[in-house]
Amino acid sequence: MTKYEVLKKYFGYDSFREGQEMLVDALLNGQDVLGIMPTGAGKSLCYQIPALLLPGITLVVSPLISLMKDQVSTLNQAGIHAAFLNSSLSAAQYRKALGFAMEGRYKIIYVAPERLLTPEFLCAVQSMEISMISVDEAHCISQWGQDFRPSYLKITEFVEQLPARPVIGAFTATATKEVRDDIEALLSLRDPVRLVTGFDRKNLKFTVQQPKDKFAAVESFLAEHEADCGIIYCLTRKNVEEVCEKLEQKGYSVTRYHAGLSDLERKENQEDFIYDRKQIMVATNAFGMGIDKSNVRYVIHYNMPKNMESYYQEAGRAGRDGLPAECILLYAGQDVITNQFFIENMAQESEDPETTALIRQREEERLKKMTFYCFTHECLRDYILRYFGEYGSNYCGNCSNCLSEFETVDVTAAAKAILGC
Ligand code: ADP
Ligand code: MG
Repeated sequence: MTKYEVLKKYFGYDSFREGQEMLVDALLNGQDVLGIMPTGAGKSLCYQIPALLLPGITLVVSPLISLMKDQVSTLNQAGIHAAFLNSSLSAAQYRKALGFAMEGRYKIIYVAPERLLTPEFLCAVQSMEISMISVDEAHCISQWGQDFRPSYLKITEFVEQLPARPVIGAFTATATKEVRDDIEALLSLRDPVRLVTGFDRKNLKFTVQQPKDKFAAVESFLAEHEADCGIIYCLTRKNVEEVCEKLEQKGYSVTRYHAGLSDLERKENQEDFIYDRKQIMVATNAFGMGIDKSNVRYVIHYNMPKNMESYYQEAGRAGRDGLPAECILLYAGQDVITNQFFIENMAQESEDPETTALIRQREEERLKKMTFYCFTHECLRDYILRYFGEYGSNYCGNCSNCLSEFETVDVTAAAKAILGC
């Protein structure tokens, strides 16, 4: 079968998306890859298609049990022999699955990083033909990321214990230079094909404002967008409650979401928003994971989030349908102080105090870059794309900085017209 036949037969698609084919080809040619694409861009296909075409088995290292389950059930439904090996299996189930794996019953095996160096797993893989190792959510290997998983650091040691080195693909949506360098170095990628793509969301208009009265700024925006639905993100539960209550008093169709609500209330509120029973969702960053509501017309950040990764992920929930949508960040100096407080009081990320100090320091640097975003006079889209390692142009024409420049030009033209020149 060709890669196109696999794409059609198992996944039902006629064509590759931007970047996918290049990574598929590289892996099929035995070249390591580092694929950096935003969430939802389609990273899984980049390794699943080569997995089906390469002679042996593909191991996919993945950090979350729920992710593994979802992926494996999707693959199974498509008629692909796949399985997962993680702590959700009982000892007996695990041994059985491992036995099947050794018999070659699976083409793709998802495995938790903690399992790799266990004697049982190491022994089992000696008799398997492993063609490829795909490291999903590869940023987990880097202490620069907020999702650092020490067990990811064991992947290279695992690879060294295999009879032959398989080709390695690393995939993530986090693309800062520090994280990319860490991934390449810590996974010992060999001359990888690097691809950073798809971060630009042309239909999103980015705006930064520093209003004296944030609530008034929200109200005046909402007055012009009465028919639309959107999300307002706040940094704290207290802020969520306040903003939601004020909007309710003004008669808006609004609901709220934060970790302080009961499971039931969260579920109900989320569904009210998703099924258009409520127009506005006021929430902390606890809201949004895995939510795919296509007609969100705006995302307002009532406070500056802690870093660009969070900002772009949350703002990116606007305009999933490809139609124009707005992403507005309302900045105030207090936001920096609140975020600094969060960093100082972060849960102990590591047993080792030095590592904790390092993680804090990196969080502070990311907070700085987020703050610069609120102050730059350059194109906001360009700032975002450069942050994520993609090349932008210095003028997008669809952000508050580009548009304010445009207005200046316009004013001059108007002045000239009045002056008759
Ligand atoms: P990521 O891991 O990058 O967040 P996924 O691999 O989960 O993204 O893919 C996101 C969605 O895009 C999935 O529903 C997938 O089926 C779909 N998708 C991926 N590639 C294509 C394609 N070439 N054509 C159409 N849909 C695709
Ligand atoms: Mg993915």
